[in-house]
Order: sequence, then structure tokens, then C-alpha cells
Amino acid sequence: PPGLYIVATPIGNLGDLTVRAADVLRRANLILAEDKRVTAKLLAHIGATAPMQVYHDHSSETDRARVLARLGSEAVALVSDAGTPLISDPGYKLVRAARAAGLSVHTLPGPSAAIAALTLAGLPTDRFLFAGFLPAKAKARAEAVAELASLRATLVFYESGSRLGDALTELAERLGQRDAAVVREISKLHEECVTGTLAELADRYRKTPPRGEIVIVVAPPAAAEPAGADALDEALRTAMVDES
Ligand code: SAM
Repeated sequence: PPGLYIVATPIGNLGDLTVRAADVLRRANLILAEDKRVTAKLLAHIGATAPMQVYHDHSSETDRARVLARLGSEAVALVSDAGTPLISDPGYKLVRAARAAGLSVHTLPGPSAAIAALTLAGLPTDRFLFAGFLPAKAKARAEAVAELASLRATLVFYESGSRLGDALTELAERLGQRDAAVVREISKLHEECVTGTLAELADRYRKTPPRGEIVIVVAPPAAAEPAGADALDEALRTAMVDES
């Protein structure tokens, strides 16, 4: 049926393409991609031959209007280079426009590095904030991190290897002593999850920037310290017992 299909694709291992995603990509009349060469490899792998067109959120309104004009009568799939479209990737303006025009939008859930990293890190997952990429410039990055400092949630960032050391240093300085994980190359040959405090991780990666694709996961701030007189008495008693 016609409409816009948001199709998640693998973030490393081609085996993670869902059966439904392959089916929709094979049947689509048009596939919107970030980079045609990247998507061509995936299409070749599943024997899909639909025509491709480049789409970005900064594509012009005219381009978007042309795509919208086709959605009423054709099946158009949106993919990104890897993972779930719209998650630190193009697509939301197109979805918004399709909805505003009363056209149907379907999503095909699948891999996303943020969720995959959360499942590996061993940090609380009941409440998390996906913060995407930190700004590249030092001042903007410091402000972005400061804004997150008091949030009682696990934080998830996308990062590149070359900036990882700087990002971890900033996080260690502004968020204090927290557990964290650097998750790398998920679902690929060199998949790795390194855990430690932010300071330990900053130290490690400042010296040797890692290769590959990276997600940083940071634990929430520790629960508030006990502050009342009773709690203080209790803390003192425990400390004295420990010394004897
Ligand atoms: N839309 C994608 C998703 O759903 O995961 C994310 C796109 S974003 C432009 C690319 C970033 O995702 C990379 O810089 C990296 O931080 C993260 N990423 C993508 N694939 C990854 C992988 N296999 N392992 C770790 N991080 C990955």
C-alpha cells in the first residue's frame, strides 16, 4: 500500500535486517537514502532494485513536496546509512509534512545504536535521556553537559573516536564521579563495552583515541546523600564500628 515507510537497517551486522524491512525495501517504488552508495550495498544484499533518491532534512521544500506528491499513490521507504531513521538522522521533517498532508506513515522498528548500547552497558535503563551528539565546540559542549548534570536519568551520547577523549573529560569534570560505559562497534567484529568511572574512561581514551563507532552511556547521579541529624549519627556509628 502507498505511504511513507520508515525502515530501520543494521548498524553493523547485516543479519539484523528484519524480514519485514527486506520485504518493504524489495517492494518499494522509491527508496530515500542519505548516501546511495551505502544503501546500494544493503539493497544488493537482499536483491532489491527500487530506484533511490538522496534525502536530507535540509533537502529543499521543493524536494520534500515532490516526495509528498508520490506518497499518495506509491510506497516510499526512508532509510539512513545505519540504524533507525530520525534518530540523529534525517526524517522528522518529512514525517511531519506527510502527517500534515494526511498521508499514511508506517514504521518498521529495528536496530538503533542508542538502545543497543543501553542493553550492553549494565547501567540503569528505567529512565534514560538520549542526548545525541554533543556539540563539537568546547563552549557549547560545556553548556550542553552542564544542562544535563542534575538530571536523574542515565545519559546516552553518540560520539566519534577522535572526539571521545574530549567528550569524556568534559563529562567527568561536570558530572563528577559516575559510572559509565564506552560501547563500540556494536554487532560488528570488534564489538566492545568498556566500563569504569568517567574519569577512568577519560584517562584511557585521551591517550589512545579508539577506532570505529561509539556510544557513551553515563549512570544517573547517585541518590541524594542522607542529610538529617539521625542519618549523620547513623553514619558516625557505622564508621566507628568499622574502625574497632
Ligand atoms: N540512526 C542511527 C541509530 O539509530 O543508531 C544513528 C545514526 S548517527 C548519524 C551515527 C552514530 O551512531 C555513530 O557516530 C555512533 O555514535 C552511533 N553508532 C552507529 N552504529 C554504531 C555501532 N555499530 N556501534 C556503536 N555506535 C554506533
